[in-house]
Amino acid sequence: MIENSMFEEEPDVVDLAKDSTTFPALDPDEVAYEPRSSRLLVRGLGENDMDEDEEDCESSARLLGMSFMNRSSAHRSSSSPYARQAPPRSCSRPSARTMVVCVLFLVIVASMTMVLYFLPGCTFTKAGCRKPNKTTPIQPVYPNSTNGELFPWAELRLPYSIHPISYDLTLNPDLDDTTFTGQTVINMTVLHNTNRIVLHGANLNITKATFKAKEVTVLEYKPRQQLAVKFSEDLKAGQYCVLTLDYSANLSHTYDGFYNSSYTDKDGNKRVLAATQFEPLYARKAFPCFDEPSFKATFLIKINRKQGYMTLSNMPKAKSTPLPNGLVQDEFEKTSVKMSTYLVAFIVSNFTPISRNISNTLVSVYSVPEKKEHTDYALDTASKLLEFYNSFFEIEYPLKKLDLVAIPDFLAGAMENWGLITFRETTLLVGKESSQLEKQVVASVIAHELAHQWFGNLVTMRWWNDLWLNEGFATYMQYMSLQTVLPQLDTGNLFLSVRFRAMDKDALNSSHAVSTEVNTSEQVEEMFDSVSYEKGASILLMLNTSLPGDQQFRKGIIEYLKQFSGANTDTNDLWNSLTEVSTHHQNVSEMMNSWTSQKGFPLVTVSRNGDEVNFTQEHFLLTSENATHSSSLWNIPVTYVNDSCSLAPECRQVFNLKTKSGTLKIPESVKWLKLNYRNTGFYIVHYGNEGWTALIDALSKNVSVLTHEDRASLVHNIFALSRFGRVSFQQVLNLLNYIPGETESAPVTEALLQLNRIYRLLDKRQESGLVARMKSYILSHFGSLMKSQTWGEEKSVSKQELRSALLGMACSLKEENCTQQAKLLFKQYVDSNGTSRIPGDLQHVVFSVAAQSDEGWTTLLNMHAHATYDAEKRKMLQALASTEDTRRLVWVLKTSLKGDIIQTQELPLVISTVCNGFAGYLFAWDFIQENWDRLIEKFPVGSFAIQTIIKSATSQFSTQAHLNQVQAFFSSLKERGSQMRSVQEALETIRLNQRWMEENLPTLRKGLYHGH
Ligand SMILES: [Zn+2]
Repeated sequence: MIENSMFEEEPDVVDLAKDSTTFPALDPDEVAYEPRSSRLLVRGLGENDMDEDEEDCESSARLLGMSFMNRSSAHRSSSSPYARQAPPRSCSRPSARTMVVCVLFLVIVASMTMVLYFLPGCTFTKAGCRKPNKTTPIQPVYPNSTNGELFPWAELRLPYSIHPISYDLTLNPDLDDTTFTGQTVINMTVLHNTNRIVLHGANLNITKATFKAKEVTVLEYKPRQQLAVKFSEDLKAGQYCVLTLDYSANLSHTYDGFYNSSYTDKDGNKRVLAATQFEPLYARKAFPCFDEPSFKATFLIKINRKQGYMTLSNMPKAKSTPLPNGLVQDEFEKTSVKMSTYLVAFIVSNFTPISRNISNTLVSVYSVPEKKEHTDYALDTASKLLEFYNSFFEIEYPLKKLDLVAIPDFLAGAMENWGLITFRETTLLVGKESSQLEKQVVASVIAHELAHQWFGNLVTMRWWNDLWLNEGFATYMQYMSLQTVLPQLDTGNLFLSVRFRAMDKDALNSSHAVSTEVNTSEQVEEMFDSVSYEKGASILLMLNTSLPGDQQFRKGIIEYLKQFSGANTDTNDLWNSLTEVSTHHQNVSEMMNSWTSQKGFPLVTVSRNGDEVNFTQEHFLLTSENATHSSSLWNIPVTYVNDSCSLAPECRQVFNLKTKSGTLKIPESVKWLKLNYRNTGFYIVHYGNEGWTALIDALSKNVSVLTHEDRASLVHNIFALSRFGRVSFQQVLNLLNYIPGETESAPVTEALLQLNRIYRLLDKRQESGLVARMKSYILSHFGSLMKSQTWGEEKSVSKQELRSALLGMACSLKEENCTQQAKLLFKQYVDSNGTSRIPGDLQHVVFSVAAQSDEGWTTLLNMHAHATYDAEKRKMLQALASTEDTRRLVWVLKTSLKGDIIQTQELPLVISTVCNGFAGYLFAWDFIQENWDRLIEKFPVGSFAIQTIIKSATSQFSTQAHLNQVQAFFSSLKERGSQMRSVQEALETIRLNQRWMEENLPTLRKGLYHGH
């Protein structure tokens, strides 16, 4: 999957922190059985005890029988010394008094827990108690099913005693009624003797269940979305059996499960359709199944439809049969591969395709009929990328067809369902006159989803704790493949900024290890974040560039894909494969474990004494609590270049820093060192006063002494060091003095983004004097570059990036030349009735300026209603949400939530745009608080959409009053979201903003003043 906006909009303002270790919210049903205190303590005990027996879930369950159990191997790594978890906030900075209180409290809790824990669990069950017997393990504590009977399973993850082999699935959707009925026949094999079948089902009304020709009762435990059938006699290991379930359900009204959607066609008629989104936990809303990635099986799917509709699924259609009731049954071929349930997909619609054969695969792109002309680019790109991956991985794409479908109503960016990839319209469709930047988005998403057909679909992570194996890899491959297949799209700068943003986020105390423990469904949702995707991709880049030769990385992943084809893996399997092919006996596992098993990344500090250079590493941990220490160490391939050779790849030298510090000899004549060549490593560098001065001197004389990636990396690093408190803001300004000589997109956009963060914070603190000075500072440093930008068509991607950042900034600061030009272009566009064009990369700037006038806003609203090209429509929407008219802002917010004029899928974008402006950010915050329950109905707790909404609304607060408000609101939510990592991040961000402001306001006053 790729989340929408992950790759296209740079996040605003500093992000920040939380303890990744908060315990999952208790289900109300569990509280009756399992007092909170006992749960916490037992959880603690379990962490050391569980590892031995992780394969045998049955016996483990009997032994402990509680939801704290974790069978994943990541569990081991999380109890490694690296992953030391921060203590609960209440005790993290103990004064003597709090220490005493905490100790007393712990003693009480511990003694109560002992009592409760050793109290027989059966007291709480209908089964009654057996005589206490020291050698008998404690019975699991089972919850009640919906019908009052005891539910025979008490964990989030399913037992391993039964494994599905194949599903035979018949669906009968009624798009007008928005309901469906279904029948699922599951063939299973029994791996261990057991007297129960436990599987998933959510909001399904089971009407009939048959096992061995007899009707059986299906129990349901709703909080974990589980179904179960109990038997009086054990099913024996090695046996095969069949369970048939008939059921009915409503089509989902959100963006997951089997959901209904509609769009208005060019004649103004409403057209209905139904589509699926199952990752991560929603296949269970469409059919009863073993809904975990490691329960792979084959699928035979039949869908009944009305005449005039068409259906799609993972496999090609085998036949269509008329049914007596006038419907048609489409039957698809049985899947030729075993796959995880989250990759199953089907669509009922009236879409039309264009197609092409690529080796043995028919590639098609589907859209609503009137957008068929926008599908050529996607077909072309997908075809090229399929050929590339087929040869790069040395494994042919295994299915006979590959469909890419643009769905009018779709929340994520895209989803890699095997053979049937679904997209938003903006991430698949490209207009004839689209800019290279828009093509870059579409090509990136296609490249990402196609990479998943191998990484994720063919080889799948065992459990969601290793989601990065899917997402980090697909993200890395998307950039890598495009560099070869479509070099003109110049995705290098995009990947560079993605790495910067991943570091900003991973620097927070609330971050988590790449491979991290996942125990609740909210935590599964939360894994879809920048650590899994972007840090995952960044560490793969670092690994690839540190291995000798350019083929070793590729050989390792081919080895991995071949060895585990059709199977499930964890992180160690990948590192082992890469170690096996190593020609120079590198221990890849040893190096990479330090990057995947602990959160955060290192700061490398350089100090020099003559010919001796000393490197030291420490955890770059941004925290508002001075007492937080971390002893984490990383295995860092430190790269460096110097003034005599700094540009070509051959100049790069490597020093492996595994310990706290290391020393290197260099010729005394070396004037300066630049570490982290082209920023391919995931670390930040501090050069010390002398080191920075030498680099700044060199740049002021000639910017071309370093690559543009290295210049951007200096800009990023110095702002980060300022947030970390290691350099003064004056030193940041000293570096930025070289900027007027800069012409490349990456360093300029990075500097603008960083200054804009500070500008927005000042704006929202109503520091009007400083806001004005910051404005004149930006205009004086970037003014000549801004003036030299053109407004006509521009072919080069990096020039488009450069000018849209510069002009976007100039116009948002209301710089006269910029706003005049934008108004002029808009007028020409409106007057010409669609014949004159605004270059795609400038539409955002032009529309946003236009939206500031009454007339322009109304014109845009009208254009938005009639726009057929989705990428343009989105930019109009962003402009509408950037107005300073508060009544209009409130209207835009409300209308997006309602979902008729503005699609609800755009609400996260609308909220983040409104929050950027001064006029609307407090309205947006109120709006979120008032409508929280409706928001989490549309976007699941923990999902990327909710993460975006929380971050947009809170990341620009920097005062105690706002901190208190945010804290009070989120803690009042309880199980409706208070435990989310993004909430901790929000609070930590505000604290850090607050501290940064307190420390730097004086420097800002002085520095910006003296500057100009
Ligand atoms: Zn993905």
